[in-house]
This record gives sequence, structure tokens and C-alpha cells, in this order.
Amino acid sequence: MLRLPRFGVVTPQTVEDVVAAINQPGARIIAGGTDLLPNLKHRLEQPALLVSLSQVEALRQVGRDDRAGVVRIGAGVTLTEISENHLVRQLYPSLARAAGIVASPSIRNMATIGGNINLDTRCRYVNQSEFWRSAIGGCLKSEGTLCHVVKGGRNCVAAMSSDCVPVLTTLDATVVLVGPAGERRVAIAEYYNTDGVRHINKEPGEFMTEVQIPVPKGPRRSAYAKWTVRKNIDFPLVSVAMRFDLDADSPDARMTDVRVCVGVLNAKPRLIRRTESLAGKRLSDRATVEALCQLVYKQSKPLENVPYEAPYRRKMIPVYTRRAIEKMLAS
Ligand SMILES: Cc1cc2nc3c(=O)[nH]c(=O)nc-3n(C[C@H](O)[C@H](O)[C@H](O)COP(=O)(O)OP(=O)(O)OC[C@H]3O[C@@H](n4cnc5c(N)ncnc54)[C@H](O)[C@@H]3O)c2cc1C
Ligand code: SF4
Repeated sequence: MLRLPRFGVVTPQTVEDVVAAINQPGARIIAGGTDLLPNLKHRLEQPALLVSLSQVEALRQVGRDDRAGVVRIGAGVTLTEISENHLVRQLYPSLARAAGIVASPSIRNMATIGGNINLDTRCRYVNQSEFWRSAIGGCLKSEGTLCHVVKGGRNCVAAMSSDCVPVLTTLDATVVLVGPAGERRVAIAEYYNTDGVRHINKEPGEFMTEVQIPVPKGPRRSAYAKWTVRKNIDFPLVSVAMRFDLDADSPDARMTDVRVCVGVLNAKPRLIRRTESLAGKRLSDRATVEALCQLVYKQSKPLENVPYEAPYRRKMIPVYTRRAIEKMLAS
């Protein structure tokens, strides 16, 4: 059995008290703990103090802010609550779906959107016990000095495996952070970088209080699909989120804007480029869907960082893109 290391726990009740607590030496935020606690058991880090968000009521709200034209989702809202929330289901069905297919019901009841957005990166060589890792001498993300995925590589390319992040990227979400210097906002597409060890552009002493998603201005369809081996209990091995803004609310509508984001490639979700070439085309047109699948395939090159062979995972990306569009059009 893997045991947890020793650490202290504090349970502040306000955002200000959280900021004060996380600015103590060796402090670390814990929300649902469904990602952090396994990492502690694997000795991937050993914080002296866990700052729990569980008692901060201000982080548990979901609401529409019409003045700002956004829906605000508190960092402490659970994935179950998001998948069942009527506003999310009505305005952002792809987010409701992504949140609703993370892991298992018991994990989704604990797991928060804040934890999902700030999820650590994953790799087959690092999400292992300390004993297992000692057999390969660790790696850049643990206790070693080299990368086993990119031989001779000087950067970690562990994968961002969150289900909600690719969706939030297509929805142009903004992350709100609070720290000693006050509040700031970061577009979620700018929140990540390609370094799998420090993949989040968060200043020391900051934490995320909410995510804001713009309310759609016109007709829109959206979809999310992931491939896993053991259905939902697994992290995605490939994932694709899509958003199609349309000129009418009809099956024959033309696209005015298209956003596609692919997950699990490396530490930064990949927003697919050149989708503007699809503007003006009909989503119901088979050739258009094929053109989109090709665009996604060409720009997505998985690495051998998570289980299953990278070439196979690459082939699955257009397959899951096509299936997600077909399912979306049939619904
Ligand atoms: C068996 C299993 C299967 C899983 N399958 C999936 C899956 O299919 N898809 C998926 O996306 N995830 C999966 N997960 C991972 C995890 O359950 C979810 O990503 C979950 O949303 C993490 O949220 P949490 O509240 O539990 O985060 P925690 O574990 O509490 O925290 C995760 C990280 O985020 C940081 N953090 C948390 N909240 C904040 C905040 N407000 N501001 C700044 N930093 C913060 C923590 O410090 C920590 O580094 C799985 C986990 C397990 C154990
Ligand atoms: S990508 Fe390389 S450095 Fe990063 S966790 Fe995997 S093996 Fe380690």
C-alpha cells in the first residue's frame, strides 16, 4: 500500500485567508484531492502544508453575469455540479459532457473545476511509485536528469490530460487568479506552456478563484470526445473539443467561426490553426467535415508520453473528431 507523507492541513473560509495561507513556505492548494493525493503517495512532491479550499463558500457558485456577458463558475464547483447545472447544459453542452465523463461518479463528486484546470501533467514514466521510478533513475519531472520520451530532450513533454481544458479553450474562457498583488485574468489559451514540469503560467502565491465563459452571441453547436481504453474511468489518451458558431439555428446552417482544440499531446492543449478556411461552409457537408478532420490530423502529433502507441493515438484523433460531429448533428 502506498502511504501519504506527513503534512499539515488548514481550512480557511475566505479568499483572503487562502492567499495568506498559500504564501507560507511549503504550502500547496488542495481542492478535491483526486489528483494531488495520488501524486503525494507517489512522492512526486512533499508539501509541508495543504491549504484546503473545501470551506470557501465563495468558490462554490455558478451564475450568469449579464453585465460582463459571461457565466462565472467558482473554482470549487465540482464536476458533478457542472455536468448537472442547467445553465452549463443549456449554454455549453460540450463542457457539461466533458465534466460528466471525467473518471467515475465518486471522483466527480469530489473533483473540482479548479483542480481540473490546474491538473498536473501526466506521463507513463512519472505517474508511478517511487520504487518503480528508481529502476529507471527518475526523469526531469521527478528525481532524474533526463527525459525517457524525447531522448536527449532538455524539456519535459508530459501531457495535459484534463477533459475540461480543451473545451474551455474552444469557449474562449478566462481564468481569474488572486494573489498578494490582487486579482488578474488570463485567457485559458495563455494559461499553459509547453514545459511539462511547470506548465501553468501562475505566479507564486496565486490561486484560481473562478473561470469565466463568454455567453454565446448567436446560434452555436459544440462537441467533445475522448478516447480511453477503460471507458470514462481512464484519463483521455486523445481528446478533441469543438465549437461551431453558425449563421442560423438550422441543420443546414453555415459556419461563421470554428474553434478546435486537441488535448493530451504535450503540456499545452493545441488550438488548431487555419480553421477560418471553413467559414461560410455547411457543417452538414461531408467534404467539409473531412477537411476539418484532415486539418486536425495534420496538426496533432502525439508523443510516447501516455500509454498506447503515439501513431495509433494520432490515427484516432480524426476518427473521434468525425464521430463527435456526427453525434452532435444527430442530437
Ligand atoms: C482514477 C482517476 C481517474 C481520473 N480520470 C480523469 C479523467 O478522465 N479526466 C480528467 O480530466 N481528470 C481525471 N482525473 C484527475 C482528477 O480527478 C480531475 O482532473 C479533477 O478535476 C481534479 O480536481 P481536484 O479538485 O480533485 O484537484 P486536486 O487534486 O485537489 O488538485 C489538483 C491540482 O490543482 C491544484 N489546484 C486545485 N485547485 C486549485 C485552484 N483553485 N487554484 C490553483 N490551483 C489549484 C492543486 O494544487 C493540484 O496541483 C482522474 C483521477 C483519478 C484518481
Ligand atoms: S516527458 Fe520526459 S521528463 Fe517529462 S515526465 Fe515523461 S519522461 Fe519525465
